[in-house]
Amino acid sequence: TSLVLAGCAGGGAGGGAGAGAASATAAPSDLRIGVSLPSQDEERWISDGKAIKEGLEKIGYQVDMQYANNDIPTQQQQLDQMLTKGADLLILAPLDGTALAPQLQAAAGANIPIVSYDRLIRNSSDVDLYVTFDNFKVGAQQATSLLEGLGILNKDGTEAGAKGPFNVELFGGSLDDNNATLYYKGAMSVLQKYIDNGTIVVKSGQDELAQITIENYSQDKAQERMDNLLTSTYTGGPILDGALTPNDSIARGVITALQNAGYGPTLESDPKPMPITTGQDAEIASVKSINDNVQYSTVFKDTRILAEQAVEGAQDLLAGAEPEVNDTQTYDNGSMVVPSFLVPIQPIYMDNIESVLVESGYYTPEEVKTGR
Ligand code: BGC
Repeated sequence: TSLVLAGCAGGGAGGGAGAGAASATAAPSDLRIGVSLPSQDEERWISDGKAIKEGLEKIGYQVDMQYANNDIPTQQQQLDQMLTKGADLLILAPLDGTALAPQLQAAAGANIPIVSYDRLIRNSSDVDLYVTFDNFKVGAQQATSLLEGLGILNKDGTEAGAKGPFNVELFGGSLDDNNATLYYKGAMSVLQKYIDNGTIVVKSGQDELAQITIENYSQDKAQERMDNLLTSTYTGGPILDGALTPNDSIARGVITALQNAGYGPTLESDPKPMPITTGQDAEIASVKSINDNVQYSTVFKDTRILAEQAVEGAQDLLAGAEPEVNDTQTYDNGSMVVPSFLVPIQPIYMDNIESVLVESGYYTPEEVKTGR
């Protein structure tokens, strides 16, 4: 760690043994926070970045924020640089939960607190705080919304009566992201019963996470997989009724493939109505799509609140105080159970866009209308 210590000496007030004490007395303007986020491909991370930066700068911290372009070596390099420039604390959403060991060790060796942001840093005992949403619940909610859209469940989770069988295809998140496993498990905790009793049929037979994963949550790759499924499994007869799509970019890719194949609009009288889809993040393009009755649902995760929680956690850690947590049992990362703060989630359908997203100021009516 001596190299890192040397690097830190030229930078902020932190670094080296006793950094905690030094930062506890340092002025915020002498402290430098490194923020590393996955990519700018998805609007979700741009919103997070903006809110984190604003929150930190409001307190007076210097902010070194980097996007890793969905590339693991890039994220490693960016973290190395943050440490060399004298970061006093890191806020980090890892692309691959397991790939940052050298950087984390260097940070820990220099007493630099580490906040795992949204995605869990795995196999490291050096994580001070995890701020996230309950990702198992996100998956369970997506499955509930799907069943509700198909008429199998009511919104409160009670049985609504439809017996199907309904053809449904499943999509999964990026395998390197720990969250993908969590929402897959959450979704299956609700869906499995209906697959077992024949109400839901996964016609392709692809229901393992490794079979349904979409690398980097790429919209194009999701579209490609849906195209392939339509050709392999739905040519000349069977109609798709629903798709479990784990986030908004995947949902939009799947919807494009379906539209190209003649599905939609969502009318009961249509011979190929748009299948019921799910989502996550309430990205504006998807909120517009839900408002237009194309995408069926999404899960809203208020990034303003998550960012604020990370900023407060950072402030506490730098002051040598205990950050606020509300879960100290669930997030075992392989090396430690990481003290966590979970922010609530909320399902979005056409009928609550206004009350949840517009009235809270997350989007203006104009943005919902134009999708921008
Ligand atoms: C986040 C989701 C996001 C996905 C793709 C996940 O780790 O929790 O909100 O849609 O990554 O970026």
